[in-house]
Order: sequence, then C-alpha cells, then structure tokens
Amino acid sequence: MKAVFLDKDGTLIEDVPYNIDPDRIRLCAGALEAVQMLAAADYQIFIITNQSGIARGYFPESALINVEKHLRQLLATAGVSLASFYYCPHHPQGVITEFAIDCDCRKPNPGLLKKAAKEHSIKLDRSWMIGDILNDIEAGNIAGCRTILIDNGNENEWQISRSRLPNFIVNNLREAAAVIMASDRSPPQKKHPYS
Ligand SMILES: [Mg+2]
Ligand SMILES: [Zn+2]
Repeated sequence: MKAVFLDKDGTLIEDVPYNIDPDRIRLCAGALEAVQMLAAADYQIFIITNQSGIARGYFPESALINVEKHLRQLLATAGVSLASFYYCPHHPQGVITEFAIDCDCRKPNPGLLKKAAKEHSIKLDRSWMIGDILNDIEAGNIAGCRTILIDNGNENEWQISRSRLPNFIVNNLREAAAVIMASDRSPPQKKHPYS
C-alpha cells in the first residue's frame, strides 16, 4: 500500500497557530479536490502533525480528539476517509514534564511516518510527504518518501541541506496532487536524490 502523508497546518488547513477549535478549521483552497484525486489513485491519506501546544501546556492532548473528528468529517464530504491522524505532542522546551522531551517523532524527525508505515503496511518508497516547511520535507526524505513543498510563504528560514531538498515545489495542495498523478504516469528516471 502507498500513502500520501499530509502536514496539517498550512498544508491541508489554513494555519491558525495552536488552534484546537473545530469552528476555526478551514481547509485550504483546492484541498478537497486534491485528496479526492489522491484517494482515487489508491493513496491512503494520513495527517502527520507536530502539536507542541500539548507540551507547551496550551491545550490538553484530549483536545485533538475533536480536531481529528472534524477533519475526518471535512474529508468525508468529499468521500475521502482519513487512514489515520498521527501527532507529536512533544517539545524539548515544553512545560508539561511528560511531553518535554527530545523525541524522535517531532518533524523533521521521521518517527511518525515510520510508525504509520509499520501500523498500516505502507511502502514508504511508493509514498509522498507534502508540507509547507522544510522540516516536513526532511522528515519525508529521511523516511524514504518522495517530497513536495508547498511554497506558500510559511517557510521563511530556508535552511537548505541535502536532506531538506524537496523533489518538487508547488503553490498549493491541488498542484501537489497533480504532480503525484503525473509522476505515477511516468515513473522517475533517476533515483531519489537523497537515497
Ligand atoms: Mg505546516
Ligand atoms: Zn514527538
């Protein structure tokens, strides 16, 4: 099985920092159409998100239950079911002791992608990570996925290294889905630059 791993904030939904209120969740323009295209092409859809608001004490871990539920409802309006929602609750400078750790699941670490792959029998080399910052790209590259950066202004540090280079750069999620469809029609001639 193959997957598309989506960053949540700024990629699938509009970025409202540390928001947990379902009423303030808005899908990015074209996002539903994008996930529909991907699901129709047999990609399992996952959300992979850093949620350091938990470690920082901004909201309890349980608040994400309603966030996930709402996202599932939004995708369901397009007939798409979310395979799973994975989040990292940690941050090394957090104030909630149990979450104030240097973990292996906070992107740019690939822990959540590896966990998802293991739990859902996903072939990472047939899968894609899409995000709006280079930390998403690094996580995807290290996990062995192909990667697409949505360059919508949210990445502003541009700390480039070999492991942080995306395979593609696009303007929005719909374009990202189109890139994946096109790649499926003509498999890449070269190996992944990071592999
Ligand atoms: Mg993001
Ligand atoms: Zn973590």
